[in-house]
Amino acid sequence: MSTTSNNGFRPLIGLTPVSGVRPDWVEFVPGDPVNILYSTYYTAVEAAGGLSVSIPITADPSTATRSLERMDGLILTGGPDICPGFYGQESTPGIRDIDYNRDVVEIALVQKALAMGLPVLGICRGVQLINVALGGTLHQDVSRVFPEVLEHVQRAPKKVNTHQVHISENTKLISILDDPSVWVNSHHHQAVAEPAPELTVSARAKDGVIEAVENSDHPFFVGVQWHPEGAWRVDASAFKLFQSFVEAAAKYGQDNKDTK
Ligand code: MN
Repeated sequence: MSTTSNNGFRPLIGLTPVSGVRPDWVEFVPGDPVNILYSTYYTAVEAAGGLSVSIPITADPSTATRSLERMDGLILTGGPDICPGFYGQESTPGIRDIDYNRDVVEIALVQKALAMGLPVLGICRGVQLINVALGGTLHQDVSRVFPEVLEHVQRAPKKVNTHQVHISENTKLISILDDPSVWVNSHHHQAVAEPAPELTVSARAKDGVIEAVENSDHPFFVGVQWHPEGAWRVDASAFKLFQSFVEAAAKYGQDNKDTK
């Protein structure tokens, strides 16, 4: 099934997996973590007309960045907290699981993707990672920062939307969603604090939490704090993100097919 017409061309999308953060469920052989990619991500890419591969999280980040040279787009998926040292902070109460090696690999991927002009979609941890990779900071736990904070770790399933986000004018995000206010799901306890110099805030929740950022000079460099992969089957605006991203990746792939 494909709802996107790219003259039959299906761009290859690299997705970053969950790595060795919880030994009880990803470390089958001690010291050798499994990389897990939730099927919701790649079924959404498939439905939007793309092909998916998982990018390996290994000790050498150049394995991942060299892989990226063969791809037409990058999706940074959800996952654990980013080590606060990467944004110049000490850990404070509220910090949770860290996968330091995944941080190293994904930061290298984002910097490489930006330099390549490769379409990037950051999801949940992914929006935070984009921001940290480009020099921004995070709130280590939003419930300790915002006085009238919404519940951003919803108890309902990910296909259920639980709070609204307000989209800024003149952004890539509003051109994709075509709506200044959309309902989203919410499964995060951290958020972007100081946006990186190259990034613009493109959505916030009513409590002030930053819910999306983008680089508006880039063909597609968007991060969202919610989980469109959890809701795309039932929520048109969630699916629009994948459609628009895959379309940008198809254009990138066709424009750069001689370099691969
Ligand atoms: Mn939220």
